[in-house]
Amino acid sequence: MTTESSTTMSPAQLMMQKKPLLIAGPCSVETEEQVIATAQRLAATGKVDVIRGGIWKPRTRPNSFEGVGTKGLPWMQKVKEMTGLPVTVEVAKAKHVEVCLEFGIDILWIGARTTVNPFAVQEIADALRGVDIPIMVKNPINPDLSLWMGGIERLQKVGLKDIAGIHRGFSNFGEKIYRNRPQWQLPIELKRRMPEIPLICDPSHICGRRDILAKVSQKSMDLNFDGLMIESHITPDDAWSDAKQQITPEVYGQMISDLKMRDYDTSALPAKSDLEVLRKQINFIDDELINMLANRMKVARDIGSFKKENNVTILQNTRWNEILEKYKKRGAGSQLSEEFIVKFITAIHDESISQQENIMSE
Ligand code: PEP
Ligand code: MN
Repeated sequence: MTTESSTTMSPAQLMMQKKPLLIAGPCSVETEEQVIATAQRLAATGKVDVIRGGIWKPRTRPNSFEGVGTKGLPWMQKVKEMTGLPVTVEVAKAKHVEVCLEFGIDILWIGARTTVNPFAVQEIADALRGVDIPIMVKNPINPDLSLWMGGIERLQKVGLKDIAGIHRGFSNFGEKIYRNRPQWQLPIELKRRMPEIPLICDPSHICGRRDILAKVSQKSMDLNFDGLMIESHITPDDAWSDAKQQITPEVYGQMISDLKMRDYDTSALPAKSDLEVLRKQINFIDDELINMLANRMKVARDIGSFKKENNVTILQNTRWNEILEKYKKRGAGSQLSEEFIVKFITAIHDESISQQENIMSE
């Protein structure tokens, strides 16, 4: 944790050094009054370092609110003047970069729907060549670590020095709990491969709902993330975008106060702490494994229903042999012994069969 007061730090120093870096603000900038009131109430909590606001909104479906556009930039400037806090805005193309620089936006971020597209990221990088501004890169919507790293590398190649990553979860068809599944092993791997990149968690887009925001925020702090980005709105239910996941500034302030911040600066702590961090990581990965197994069994039961309706046997030996052979080969490339792979896949397969047998006898 830094001891320096955040007010004396430049936006770049803040983003690269303050821990935890706390970013909050509305999903979308809607009106001048809304963004200013949100920012002032957030600033009053004393628990925010940077105010966020979406000006151009990349929407999955058309006919949703697509953002106020450039006219929102002077409002962000006002937010900065009135609160003394730096502001951050999402950019998706060169034109956005150009006007953000014109209006003195302090930190930029690239959204998940842009990180998936190397053409778009390159266009942004080209617009930033020779510019010194901090920038954050959200993970792509699909769980592809190379694409995420590629986005960061494109920005590094044009000379940007202050780059952070934001973990906002991954889109997954049929997911029930999260809007975007966290799949913590991906950001953990990003941190291992790019330790110099601060990693911020965006629980709002992971959860898509308010009731589990605190839990996911705490999880990210336990995993030694460097900061949080949380969406906050003065009247969340009336928000023009992402209404279900936004919280009032006061609820935000309370949530941040309730977080247990553990100091994982292992240089100052006995070696035992290393072990603690690793064990936490193992616990979270195991949790993910169980979730994935539960999803797999649901698919197996659906296959069971199909087989029942179509009078097909549960076990099809050729298919089972193919699966086993395929994973034995995969195992060899991932430092897993053949014996373990066979045991593991067989156990999963046995459980699938017994679940399908239950369906058959229903
Ligand atoms: C956002 O931060 O409002 C946003 C659009 O997020 P994402 O790119 O993670 O979907
Ligand atoms: Mn949003």
